[in-house]
Amino acid sequence: MIRTVITCEQHTDCRAIFLPPVDSGAVVLERAARAVGWRRLGATLHACPACTAGRGPVRDTGDCPNCGGLTITTPGDDRCRYCATPPTPPTHRHGDHHDAGA
Ligand SMILES: [Zn+2]
Ligand SMILES: [Zn+2]
Repeated sequence: MIRTVITCEQHTDCRAIFLPPVDSGAVVLERAARAVGWRRLGATLHACPACTAGRGPVRDTGDCPNCGGLTITTPGDDRCRYCATPPTPPTHRHGDHHDAGA
């Protein structure tokens, strides 16, 4: 099965990519991309959050869930070097009690 992804067309050398968290249709993908800062340039063209914010193009790829860019780690804070998004949050979600006291 081919997974639809969105790539950045703003800069020819931008390597940003948006991978949907789940395999979804084009409409869902489009909406998810927009929610994290991607912008539409045309019918099938997109600009990544980094380029949109003037931080692009993305040249080094890494773990960023929004643009696929390299994330940098500083004490207590990880974020994307390009779009400044923190990488996929660690396994602590709310509603997750790791000492529920059964
Ligand atoms: Zn870009
Ligand atoms: Zn990013």
